[in-house]
Amino acid sequence: MTLDLKSLALPGVQRLQPYQGGKPVEELERELGIRGAIKLASNENPLGLSAVARAAIEESLIDGARYPDGNGFYLKQKLAEKFSVGTDQLTLGNGSNDVLELMARGFLGSEHNAVFSEHAFVVYQLAITAQNAKAIVVPARHWGHDLAAMAAAVDDHTRLMFIANPNNPTGTWVALDDIESLMKKVPQHVLVVVDEAYFEYVDKPAYGTALSLLDQYPNLVITRTFSKAYGLASLRAGYAVSHPDVADIINRVRQPFNINSMALAAAVAVLDDQDYLGRSIEINRKGCEQLTSGFSQMGLDFIPSVGNFIAVEIPGNIQALYQALLQLGVIVRPIGLYGMPNHLRVSIGLPEENQRFLDTLRQLLSERGGT
Ligand SMILES: *Cc1c(COP(=O)(O)O)cnc(C)c1O
Repeated sequence: MTLDLKSLALPGVQRLQPYQGGKPVEELERELGIRGAIKLASNENPLGLSAVARAAIEESLIDGARYPDGNGFYLKQKLAEKFSVGTDQLTLGNGSNDVLELMARGFLGSEHNAVFSEHAFVVYQLAITAQNAKAIVVPARHWGHDLAAMAAAVDDHTRLMFIANPNNPTGTWVALDDIESLMKKVPQHVLVVVDEAYFEYVDKPAYGTALSLLDQYPNLVITRTFSKAYGLASLRAGYAVSHPDVADIINRVRQPFNINSMALAAAVAVLDDQDYLGRSIEINRKGCEQLTSGFSQMGLDFIPSVGNFIAVEIPGNIQALYQALLQLGVIVRPIGLYGMPNHLRVSIGLPEENQRFLDTLRQLLSERGGT
């Protein structure tokens, strides 16, 4: 072939590396010919789909041959009520990942840059690069976001800043007061996107949703997802809350039916399912204790996390350990891609899954003569 077809792609797209998710259970079982593997690799909800969501999905299938409500009327209505915002402030997405990308699509060109922290959620980098905009990566402090340094990194060409609160994969968080101090410093031409994918799990007095600052700071955007505490990862539902003008722009660049009927129905239903949400939070809190005390017993360092996952530091060859865990049917996530080559990220699972992971890890580490 004479022409390199890849050279035809847009410059930003040429620089992209496809996102690598956690390995699916069936894929591992197929590859190894095993059964009973467990996946603690994608921060999914270990409780599985709520019965309330399942019923709503089944009901929505009655209209399965029709296009979804492209404006997501009922979901917006429900969210607006629950969080005391206007429906014109809401944008729905095919997962919050969609909304994050739409922000980049609407506001970033090759002449712009966007600021985010080292070790932050990798989708920011992808969304910025796809637009051929420049990514300004600000060094982390104690694994967390250095908001003062992030504010200082802003220049006339900055259009977006991404703050994951809590952050994935570190599990670190920033206080609401610190977000407010940041907003005071950041000029209005910078849209500050606070990604609250895990906010339901956080139980810290100083933590608060940035929604409460939206009236004062119109350049603030909050994104949320139904994939984690609400257990709808496969359906893909997320949303942004912003000034109506920002919502109007995102609405112009999204696909007309970017959120499907099943996702809409399930999301509406789970917002009322306090029991499921409560159990999600509780099983996560207990699992976090179980894992961190296991790590401590093994003498392993970990980053204290407020999310549904923990980054644990592993001595020695981490790729070999990751592979060995796979062989034994335990899927976790190496996070070298996040600039953390010495950590594994483990999602908090059911008690028996956490135990199996801890036991397998202990066995492998002792076999190699480590801890
Ligand atoms: C999981 C995650 C998301 C988005 O997930 P969706 O399934 O696309 O809604 C967004 N931000 C962070 C930090 C995440 O970890």
